[in-house]
Amino acid sequence: MRILLTNDDGINAPGLSALEEIAGALSDDVWVVAPETDQSGASHSLTLADPLRMRKVGERRFAVRGTPTDCVIMGLRQALDGPPDLVLSGVNAGQNIADDVTYSGTVAGAMEGMLLGVRSMALSQAYGFGRGTRPDFSAAIGHGPEVISRLLALDLPPTTLVNVNFPDCPAEDVNGWRVTRQGKRDQGLLKVEERHDGRHQPYYWIGFERSLSTPPEGTDLHAVYNGFVSVTPLRLDLTDHEACARLASALG
Ligand code: MN
Repeated sequence: MRILLTNDDGINAPGLSALEEIAGALSDDVWVVAPETDQSGASHSLTLADPLRMRKVGERRFAVRGTPTDCVIMGLRQALDGPPDLVLSGVNAGQNIADDVTYSGTVAGAMEGMLLGVRSMALSQAYGFGRGTRPDFSAAIGHGPEVISRLLALDLPPTTLVNVNFPDCPAEDVNGWRVTRQGKRDQGLLKVEERHDGRHQPYYWIGFERSLSTPPEGTDLHAVYNGFVSVTPLRLDLTDHEACARLASALG
């Protein structure tokens, strides 16, 4: 099985090493095409107005000065000498649940793989909820191979990608897995922090306050907050089918 790895944290991110360890447990035909720099929050963007630079940084290992979407396209159309059987994106430093899904470059890497006809999964490791300020990838490394191989055994539609999030705890403390739906974050936690540079000019950081809300059961948020690996099947058709009928009768 040939596996293409990408991420949005960049070619030197510790989470990519974690993903290489996970993929190495499944196959010895593993390729990496990852962004040169941190592309977190890049979503499904691709580079159209600038040339793409790709650097070979090792055996079956490439760095692209672009987004995760660019990387998957470059992997499939340029870098690999044949199509992969699986695209894995991650392991992201930080969860990608609820509304994160549409901001996430990690999830977008899997979106692009799916669009190009390859089974694709995004993997993210939650952290920062009282267990330190750096991600500990042991839950992802410990449970990733089995989650992935069990998902591979399923016959999922080609329009489905899978979003996997590992909870913020050591591998042995994981409570199990939950198949979940995409939750909804409290946008009240979105904040803009103002700081000042050396010349007293203001600059800003956008971020989410890390806070454990009480999300409904069945959501990705609920699973990850309660120590479960969250497995969410996603598709790119964002059509609101319920509103379709109402719009049709009003405008029809
Ligand atoms: Mn990231």
